[in-house]
Amino acid sequence: MSMRYISTRGAGSAPEEPAKSFCDILLEGLAPDGGLFLPQSYPVLSADELTSMRGLSYADLAFAIISHYADDIPADDLKAIINKTYTPQVFGSEEITPLRTLEPDLHILQLSNGPTLAFKDMAMQFLGNLFEYVLAKRSAEINILGATSGDTGSSAEYAMKGKHGVRLFMLSPHEKMSPFQCAQMFSLQDENIFNIAVRGVFDDCQDVVKAVSNDLVFKAKYKIGAVNSINWGRIVAQVVYYFKGYFAVTSSNEEKVSFAVPSGNFGNVLAGHIARMMGLPVRHLIVATNENDVLDEFFRTGRYRQRKAAETRQTSSPSMDISKASNFERFLYDLLWRDPAAVRELMRKVDHEGGFDVSECADVWKRMPAFGFISGRSMHADRIAIIRMVWEKYGIEIDTHTADGLKVALEHREHGVPLVCLETALPAKFESSMVEALGRKPVRPAALDDIENLPQRFELMDADALAIKRFIAGKING
Ligand SMILES: *Cc1c(COP(=O)(O)O)cnc(C)c1O
Repeated sequence: MSMRYISTRGAGSAPEEPAKSFCDILLEGLAPDGGLFLPQSYPVLSADELTSMRGLSYADLAFAIISHYADDIPADDLKAIINKTYTPQVFGSEEITPLRTLEPDLHILQLSNGPTLAFKDMAMQFLGNLFEYVLAKRSAEINILGATSGDTGSSAEYAMKGKHGVRLFMLSPHEKMSPFQCAQMFSLQDENIFNIAVRGVFDDCQDVVKAVSNDLVFKAKYKIGAVNSINWGRIVAQVVYYFKGYFAVTSSNEEKVSFAVPSGNFGNVLAGHIARMMGLPVRHLIVATNENDVLDEFFRTGRYRQRKAAETRQTSSPSMDISKASNFERFLYDLLWRDPAAVRELMRKVDHEGGFDVSECADVWKRMPAFGFISGRSMHADRIAIIRMVWEKYGIEIDTHTADGLKVALEHREHGVPLVCLETALPAKFESSMVEALGRKPVRPAALDDIENLPQRFELMDADALAIKRFIAGKING
């Protein structure tokens, strides 16, 4: 049976509205009904299949998992895309995601050795190669439009640069990112990458993206697309390293492992949920938030209360500064027995009442523990203390996001259960917090030593959707 995709709000479930294939949904953002795409069912791995995965290289493991989801791509082609993506040249080592053991049963899985020093490269590099392949097959092209306050923009640019059939327009708030982050993005000289520095803040950038995407005529004419965290191709690629981490810390599939995940839009830890649904023996998925604690509140109390832009705090783990968790609806769908009507009702409440409370429904609340999620929150002082502790005790530098994960992980540690903390960025990206914690600048990969001094290429514009549409059209028409 082939893998088909449906929307969390019901599209694709009716006979007159056929469900879609992996390549169909890859280039789309939201489903037409406003929901998120998910497979009709998760492939559940047999014990033999799981055993056969132990010991595979990262690329072979990725193929074993992703081929279940991308079954409309011929196996040899998919293999070639994956082998081209997960190489030591791109990710710095044969292991791709090396494990660092702090002490028995306490580990860090390093996911940040890609080109932009954050875990987003793990999925985005795959997406770049995948897009190029699918677009060539369909003789199509895409113009990706996005807004970034840091990590997403750079990882998208390093994934899409030089790719045939792809142009990328990335909006960022002028003079609001760190010098390192600006240098990472603006020093790219590839002709298909367009950096637009917007006079304003991140929300202004996002408003422009929304305004452009809501212009359906413009969107269709100029083939505007997105690569944000709800993209299913990204989620699928992230499932792989949960398996990699599990095999790295166990010797048999009888053992259970817990994962701690620094979370924002719920993309990373959702991939852990999917790995668990596929049969990976995961005990707990530990969701760590910073001061922006919408997810921690939900997993502790059942209350999901979307924050307003004004309530969203700027923190020293900025990539987790979110007001709503865009991928959360996918978990909700599984929690609600995969009933799209129930999802629609709760999302209606989010729109009209600002949130909902699943603890009011005894049946839902009762089944929550079966999914293995637990959570906690980490504040600025916690991050700084953890960074210091890890340096003093283990001689290892971790960044502020990974520190949030480790802080919450330690609160939930269980005797005899290996705990894997996902590292989501390298300290080099967040110099000022590292100076605050350790009194000195973090180590930077040698290749990036002088990045701030490279020539920069960007367009400075007002937060004016019309002007930005004109700019995009001009570049596309050449
Ligand atoms: C994006 C990001 C996160 C949050 O991941 P989600 O998938 O949005 O939950 C955490 N840490 C870093 C460094 C990131 O770039």
